[in-house]
Amino acid sequence: MQETESRADNTPRESALEKLAQPEESHIRHVIAVVSGKGGVGKSSLSALLAVSLARDGYRVGLLDADITGPSIPKLFGLYQQPRAQNGKISPPKTALGIKVISLNLLLPNEDDPVVWRGPLIGGAVKQFWTDVLWGEIDYLVVDLPPGTGDAPLTVMQSLPLDGLLIVTSPQELAVMVVKKAIKMARMLEVPILGLVENMSGLICPHCGKPVELFGPSRAQAVAAETGVRLLGTIPLDPELSRLGDRGEIEAYRVDFLKEIPRLLENN
Ligand code: ADP
Repeated sequence: MQETESRADNTPRESALEKLAQPEESHIRHVIAVVSGKGGVGKSSLSALLAVSLARDGYRVGLLDADITGPSIPKLFGLYQQPRAQNGKISPPKTALGIKVISLNLLLPNEDDPVVWRGPLIGGAVKQFWTDVLWGEIDYLVVDLPPGTGDAPLTVMQSLPLDGLLIVTSPQELAVMVVKKAIKMARMLEVPILGLVENMSGLICPHCGKPVELFGPSRAQAVAAETGVRLLGTIPLDPELSRLGDRGEIEAYRVDFLKEIPRLLENN
């Protein structure tokens, strides 16, 4: 097992040598991470929706919540039971669609407990999620990265053998600005970027049916053109999505353009 200390500094060249090997007794074919320039733009929702889309298409899917300080994945799926221990390893709970989920929230004695960790500790926890969880046969492992472009997402990206990255942003100017940093980080670490998703991209007025540009006009096309990253699609602000998420029923929501991900990964 090739395992080293996680790094909080920016040493992408060496990081290629530090990738974790396949976990014992498991086989994970592809790893896709979801990153955002900042928190609150819908990264966890998109990670969950990607896992749902893949599971619906018949793939065996895992979802690793690496957003350690704000883990929200289990709640979206209505998962609350503690994972079972099996021969010193963690057996991940499954969602209704059979997605295997691991998150620190499932292991905390009290799900409201705050986690005040920094990059290296987060990196250590995520490594354990990779190594000590009984994933079994997985076609796609989706990783919900810590938000931003600081040392926490960087350590995770450096240690997991990522095949592709999805960047999620909202139309707010700041989010668009920081997304360029996320793109730079991915290029630095030589992880292929599958594309950009603009979330909270306007809303349809429930009264008059006209589109409302809540955070100003979308700049997603412009950012895509400027950075050379493909715009995968946009998701409007939809009260139904937050309602389903709050109820733990995110598996009932569909985002059609996410079906393209396996093909995009093949072509990379
Ligand atoms: P992040 O992981 O980037 O912090 P979340 O996925 O946790 O963001 O989303 C933050 C909040 O916004 C959640 O309450 C979620 O339900 C809501 N939300 C995200 N995307 C949408 C959307 N397209 N429409 C409505 N609510 C959304």
